[in-house]
This record gives sequence, structure tokens and C-alpha cells, in this order.
Amino acid sequence: MSIVGIDLGTTNSLISVFTDDGPELIPNALGDFLTPSAVGLSEKGQVLVGQAAKDRLVTHPALTQARFKRYMGTNWGQKLGRKHYRAEDLSALVLGSLKADAENHLGHPVERAIISVPAYFNDTQRKATMAAGQIAGLKVERLINEPTAAALAYGLNDKDGESTFLVVDLGGGTFDVSILEMFDGVMEVRASAGDAFLGGEDFTDEVAKYLAGKLDTTLEKFSAKKAAMLRDLADQAKAKLSSEHEVSFKFIDDKSTEQTLSLTRNKLEEISEGLLKKLRHPIQRAVMDAGLRAENIDQVVLVGGATRMPVVRSLIARMFKTFPVHNLNPDHVIAMGAAVQAGLVDRHKALDDIVMTDVCPFTLGTDVAIEIAKGQYEDGHFQPVIERNTVIPVSRAVRNSTIHKGQTQLNLRIFQGEAPRVTNNVYLGQVNVPIPKNMKDYEEVDIRFTYDVSGVLEVLVKVLSTEKTSRLVIEGNPGALSKSEIDARFKVLDKLKIHPREETVNAAFTARLDKAYENHLGDARKDIQYLIGVFEAALARQNKHEIKEARDEIEPHLKTYEDRSIF
Ligand code: AMP
Repeated sequence: MSIVGIDLGTTNSLISVFTDDGPELIPNALGDFLTPSAVGLSEKGQVLVGQAAKDRLVTHPALTQARFKRYMGTNWGQKLGRKHYRAEDLSALVLGSLKADAENHLGHPVERAIISVPAYFNDTQRKATMAAGQIAGLKVERLINEPTAAALAYGLNDKDGESTFLVVDLGGGTFDVSILEMFDGVMEVRASAGDAFLGGEDFTDEVAKYLAGKLDTTLEKFSAKKAAMLRDLADQAKAKLSSEHEVSFKFIDDKSTEQTLSLTRNKLEEISEGLLKKLRHPIQRAVMDAGLRAENIDQVVLVGGATRMPVVRSLIARMFKTFPVHNLNPDHVIAMGAAVQAGLVDRHKALDDIVMTDVCPFTLGTDVAIEIAKGQYEDGHFQPVIERNTVIPVSRAVRNSTIHKGQTQLNLRIFQGEAPRVTNNVYLGQVNVPIPKNMKDYEEVDIRFTYDVSGVLEVLVKVLSTEKTSRLVIEGNPGALSKSEIDARFKVLDKLKIHPREETVNAAFTARLDKAYENHLGDARKDIQYLIGVFEAALARQNKHEIKEARDEIEPHLKTYEDRSIF
């Protein structure tokens, strides 16, 4: 049974497999490789995943969710219908849909997967991704960092090459930068940096805010439906400006007035200035951490849909005085690399000579009290245990002692980050260690951090005098799911009615028609309503052949209406 590779993206997700011919992407029920990471409920209460759900974001905002990846491992949740869903649940539904596509394509059950995550995802977000996999009924063999996956896909293309390259991965919601060295099939990540809260969607938000301003209002003042429509148009306008210098489009506001809006590439650059500034810092840090200078980078590889933006490309070209390469499709490359990793885990013979090493992108450590004057301690200081950009897997230990004689408990808090004070770092969890009461002396403990190939952390604390060991249990971290919670979520989701896969094409087609109707007024609406009637009549006759004929007939008309809302 093959292991699949999955790119679980903010905007789109993909599934792939490693075959004798190399990595291969698997199409979904619509025949597309990209499945929008959107989940919704149909009027009948069935779960819809992918394109249909994405289009229904505009027509049914209360019944649809998207862009939940950035909430993985947090307490965030939303209601869909009567049930409450966490980001892990919604991601599990996307994973479940991809799994069904792969099973349909491969003709056998799929149970094991490699899932890609942003290199900059922290421990909680990684564990949340693993939990989402488990909730979807998948054994997550390993997580792979997205830029590392991209590098694997590129490296396989140029197995005998020797070069140092920089991978810039700007997806929908996250930004990662990695520097890799490749030599004779050995690929080594030298440094990673990034921002888990910066992506193409932020550029879309800026555009939507700007457009609302042009209409003399703010996004918050629109109804949920209109705000979703304006955001959708903003996203399309932004993407179109990657190939054109100016776009115009029609928007029907809450008063049913048709407004024509336009945006130029120059204006987009101007409103993106703050975000562009945020892109520079991780790039500079990765180069510095690798002990390199800009001129040592032989190739810059672009990954993620948002690297199609000309401003992003020119920023990178200016920084490295070289034109970035993008000869593999930036939307596909991470999933291709995840398939290569699946092939490596499966020990596929075609990959015998490939070796890949990765690093831990941030420093991991504990809080510690520092003696600031004789007998006077100040807590809240950061004690690094594993420094950023250490090659993984890695296991490191430090020895600490109690502050007071007679102390019976040590509450060790675990953090990730680069700041000297723990309050400015990310809290990951706590280990509560019982200490034998010793009035004569201070007690010593060994704190061992082990960071595995998936970037998941284990912390063990051993009291030297008793040789007793305590393990990190994520306590007081409201974002983390326990094993029993994962099992419970699995049972809840397993009972949901999923929209039948064979009807996905029709559900997506209906969603497109409804969205086109919402986006127009007057005669155009009447025409679209007629098309909806024709399609519904065909659906009612329940003859597959006739339904397909109706879709083929309606398609060119629908397309002209879709094209007419943005021009
Ligand atoms: P990903 O998560 O890699 O699928 O990236 C999705 C992001 O890329 C979204 O924010 C899209 O708006 C953005 N994107 C996709 N195509 C383009 C394009 N042609 N120009 C600019 N941004 C794009």
C-alpha cells in the first residue's frame, strides 16, 4: 500500500504518490490537482469540500469555512450548522476528501501519509496537523517542512548538480525561507526562517480594505455576504494584476447598486508596502544563519501561489541580483516533494542515492530564574536547549538545579523563540516535576529535549537523586488536543454525512451558477436564473448522460458571466 504525500495548504490542498516514474499528483473528483481548502454544509446538511465549498463562501458564508490553517493548534472554532468545528476538524475533512480521491485513483485504501507543514509551524501547530491526520483516519508517518519538500522536488530534477539555493515559499497564509546545499544527491537544509502569519491572503485583505475605502466605507460595515464577495473579487483582482497592469470589476453593494471598481499594479504595490517589508527580515536572517552572503546563493526557487506577484519577484531579484527560477509549477511543487518524501520513507529503489537532512527553524528552551544579587532570583529568563538551525533529529540536555533548599516541585515551562525573556517567546507547554524534599542541599535535574524528523518535540526531566523521569504533558495549553479528544473528534466526524463523491461535479457546478447569480443584476441575472432552471431540470431527471449534456451546454454561457464580473 502506498504512502501518499499531502500538501495541506491555506488556500489549496493536493495529494500525490511516488511511482516508478517519479512523483505523481492525483486529481480530485473534478479532475483538478488543486482542491480548495474550504469546507461547507449543503442545504441537506451534507459536508462539501473543495471548489463547491469555496464558491459557496460567497453565497452561503454562514455555512462555509476557509482559511482555517492559521488557526491550527488554537482554541479557534466556528459553527457550521449546529456543530462546532475546530481548525483540526475542518482540516481533517479536507484530508478525508483528498484520501477519498487517492483511494479512487489508486484503487486501494490509503492509510499512511506524509503531510507538509510550514517550516515555521511551531510544536503546537505541528501536533495539531498530526491530530487532523488522525481524525481523518490517516497514520501520519512524518511531517515535512514545505520548503524542504520543494527542495526535494527540485533536487530530484537535478540529482547530479551542486549548488546552494534559497527556497522562498509564500503561500496563502504562511511565509517560509530555507537555504539548502545540494551535492551528489545529498540535500542539506542549512537554515530556515519565516513567519507563520504572513501570506498571500494578507495581500488580499489589504486590497479588500482599500476597495471598501474607495466605496467610502469599511469592510466591517458590509453584510457577511457582501464582505465575502468583495474579498473574493479582491483576490481575483490581485491575481490578475500578476499578468496585467490594471483590472476593473463590478461589485453589487448592500443597496443593490452596481459599482465599478478598478485597481492598478502600482496601487497594489503601494498598499502592499508594509507586507513587503515583513518579507525581507526572514530572508536576511536565513542567509545570515547559514553563514552566507547574498552572492553565495546560486539559485532562488519560488514556491507558493503568492510568489507569482511581480512585486514579490522583483523584491527577491533585487536582494539576490538574480532572477528567481520557477520551472516547476509553484502550486504543485510542495506536493511533489511530499511524494518524494513518501518514496523515501517507503524506501523506493529509485531514491536509493538521495539523502535529505533538515533543521529545527527556531530555538527551543525553558524558562529559568537568574540570580541577580546574592540569593535574589528573577524568573522569566529564556534558557536555550536546542538552538535554531540545528540539524534534526537532535537530542540535547542541560543540567539545572533547584533555587531553594527543601523545594518539592519544579514547574518547568517550555518555550520556542529567540527573545531573552520568555514572555516574548511562544509557550509550548509545561512539565511539573516532583522533587524529593531535601533541606540540606539543592537538587539537580537533567532536562533533555528531543526534536524528531517531523519537528515534534519531546521533553524529559530526570531528577538525579531519585532517577525518576517526568515527560512533557501539554497542560494549560488550550490549543492542544489530547489523545482521547482526538479519538472523540474522529468518532464525531466519522458520523457526518459527506456529500457523495460522484455528485461533486454537480454540486460544484450549482455553486458556480449561484455565485454568478449573486454577482450580477438585471437581465444578466435573468439569464443566469434560466441556466439554473435548465440545470435543475436535468438534475431532477436523474440521468447522468443528460446531466453531463446540460453542464456542457451551460458551461460557455456561465463562463462569459464569470468573466464579466472581473475584466
Ligand atoms: P498557495 O497556498 O500556495 O496555494 O497560495 C495561495 C495564494 O496565492 C493565495 O493568496 C492566492 O491569492 C495567491 N495567488 C494565486 N495565484 C496568484 C497570482 N497569479 N498572482 C498573485 N497571487 C496569486
